Amino acid sequence: MSLLILGGTGEARALSIALQDLPGARVSLAGVTERPAAQGMPARRGGFGGAEGFAAYLRSEGISAVLDATHPFAARMSARSRRVCDQFRIPYRRLLRPAWHPGAEDHWIIVPSPAMAVKFIPPGAVVFLATGGQSVGEYAGLDHATVLIRVIDVPEGDFPFTRGKFLQGRPPYDAEAETALFLREAVTHLICKNAGGAAGQAKLMAARALGVPVVMIARPEGPKDRALETVEAACAWVREGCSP
Ligand code: NAP
Repeated sequence: MSLLILGGTGEARALSIALQDLPGARVSLAGVTERPAAQGMPARRGGFGGAEGFAAYLRSEGISAVLDATHPFAARMSARSRRVCDQFRIPYRRLLRPAWHPGAEDHWIIVPSPAMAVKFIPPGAVVFLATGGQSVGEYAGLDHATVLIRVIDVPEGDFPFTRGKFLQGRPPYDAEAETALFLREAVTHLICKNAGGAAGQAKLMAARALGVPVVMIARPEGPKDRALETVEAACAWVREGCSP
């Protein structure tokens, strides 16, 4: 079996390590991170060149199953991969970790888009923008606030907002360190995507502990019928032969 894992998440990395004994298996990374964490199996980097490029890759490499472990917000990649796999009758599953839900002590404002998130930030706020460096351009209009952007690779060039700075970090984070960070930087608001999963949850625990409001961007809608929720379930699907 020639398995292709679509990666870019901690779960994809866990899968590539758990399934590294599988002959012919490989992982694909978008090439967004300069120094990606080591994967357990051979990795290719960079986009495929759209749906046609992806289809050509599947054919030329003889890929027999695709496990899509991209981020829950990588909606274009997931929709496209599913469509192309269906076209070529290649078994496809998506590893989709469950979304987060607010508890009684949380103060969440759930919004459908980055543009809407900006509207809930009052003048003078100190915003922890924990949505990844790539999406910063979607938050135009945050110049009335101080913006802290956490990134894996600090980009060169000017900071994209009038006030604020980059914070360098790589998940997972722990709640204690996140709480200390919120206090040190006097964070008043958190903007984040409903990514789900344990690795990113610490910032929500910090917000809860400190009573910081969370502007939560809801997940993109997508089909859930071929989704698996855990790394263990995804491994089992592969080990049991990748049913269609
Ligand atoms: P996207 O909008 O759904 O996809 C944009 C393009 O990136 C795709 O059309 C594809 O290019 C390329 N791509 C995405 N994932 C790829 C992969 N695993 N291997 C090769 N090419 C890939 O995706 P995105 O939201 O920009 O995310 C890009 C990557 O960052 C993904 O791997 C995702 O898992 C990771 N990531 C995303 C987020 C997020 O918040 N969106 C957070 C953490 C990590 P071609 O059309 O040229 O094939």
